[in-house]
Amino acid sequence: MAHNGSSDAGTALGHQIVRRIDELAAISETPENLTRIFLTSQHRAAADLLLSWMREAGMAAHLDAIGNVCGRYEGDKAGLPCLMLGSHYDTVRDAGKWDGPLGVITAIACVADLNRRGKRLPFAVEITGFADEEGVRFASTLLGSRAVAGTFDESVLGGRDKAGISMREALVQFGLDPQHIGAAARAPRQLLGYVELHIEQGPVLEQKGLPVGVVTAIAGATRLAARLTGMAGHAGTVPMAMRRDALAGAAECISTIEEFCRTDEAGLVGTVGYISAAPGATNVIPGQVSFTIDMRAPTDMHRRHAVAEIVRRIEATAKRRSLELQLDITHENRTAPCALWLQAQIAEAVKAEGYEAFELSSGAGHDGMAMIDIADVGMIFVRCRGGISHHPDEHVELADADAGARVLLRMVENFRPHLGKAEPSPP
Ligand SMILES: [Zn+2]
Repeated sequence: MAHNGSSDAGTALGHQIVRRIDELAAISETPENLTRIFLTSQHRAAADLLLSWMREAGMAAHLDAIGNVCGRYEGDKAGLPCLMLGSHYDTVRDAGKWDGPLGVITAIACVADLNRRGKRLPFAVEITGFADEEGVRFASTLLGSRAVAGTFDESVLGGRDKAGISMREALVQFGLDPQHIGAAARAPRQLLGYVELHIEQGPVLEQKGLPVGVVTAIAGATRLAARLTGMAGHAGTVPMAMRRDALAGAAECISTIEEFCRTDEAGLVGTVGYISAAPGATNVIPGQVSFTIDMRAPTDMHRRHAVAEIVRRIEATAKRRSLELQLDITHENRTAPCALWLQAQIAEAVKAEGYEAFELSSGAGHDGMAMIDIADVGMIFVRCRGGISHHPDEHVELADADAGARVLLRMVENFRPHLGKAEPSPP
């Protein structure tokens, strides 16, 4: 029989990854769907399972001060700086099973493969499974990676979950000491880089027919809150020309945002995801409307220009329609560009595995946004079905999980440190 390139032996990594994704997904707050939240008994059980897999892969493994799982595979000498791989293992509510865990489980599979072959590299490989990326419990995201980056904001310890338990209390109940979160922080000189494999969470790779992609940047975001105030009135008696309809004005603003972003060719996206109109009755002209705007782009400069232009156009619409406008920026985070030298090494591995090295930016946030404070960041995206994520229908084909693992393994084995970031710049 002719040998088939995608035979079982050829997808051994993929098989193991899919099996472990299912095993980890069984650890959930509720049996019928997947919910795994920071500092719960499910967090503990998932951590124990991941730590056992790390040890089985030949790594020294421990839980750190914020509840991240940390594994270390020594290089050809003990104590060398590391290439850090990772992703998160918390989930949103009613989650898919791939978002986060795929990166952690794939990294473990790669190290296990090196260990099986007795292969040591001229640097250490570490894996961090971040305990809280999604921020479901305490409404603050990237808690695990911020602790590792040394940028954890102690003021969030007082934040409370829906049951009224503070983060400080939850850490103590979990067996961790809130005073010692600083111990999770890593020094930049210990890290040669941070590389994360993650599902794309969007439809671009599927549309391109590619199993993996090279991420160029994690897009920053600006969120605004807008309020338009006109004049409420009787839907039957106020002539059209005399109206100050806040909802019709908002509709024009929304169309403007969509049109502006749609004609942009550099990855700008804009969304109005929430709107409310008052008084909200069939026979009353809306007097006041509130809506939100979420703007993202692959570079900060591009996003800021776009936001400024959108603001200018909304102001013009409000003025022309005699509406009062209140417009505030409610949230802003900067773009985390992936290091060019890591992108190049990832692209090399992608090509060596026989795929086109397709570049795309990430519209979703990731732990790299925090890790960039202490290390250069690289990301590999894996195709997911229909671009669906944060939903039980989230799905990755076994062959794609395998392709992602082969790319990551090759990238790690051929990794060449870049000393630019670790060295102080000349005066
Ligand atoms: Zn994620």
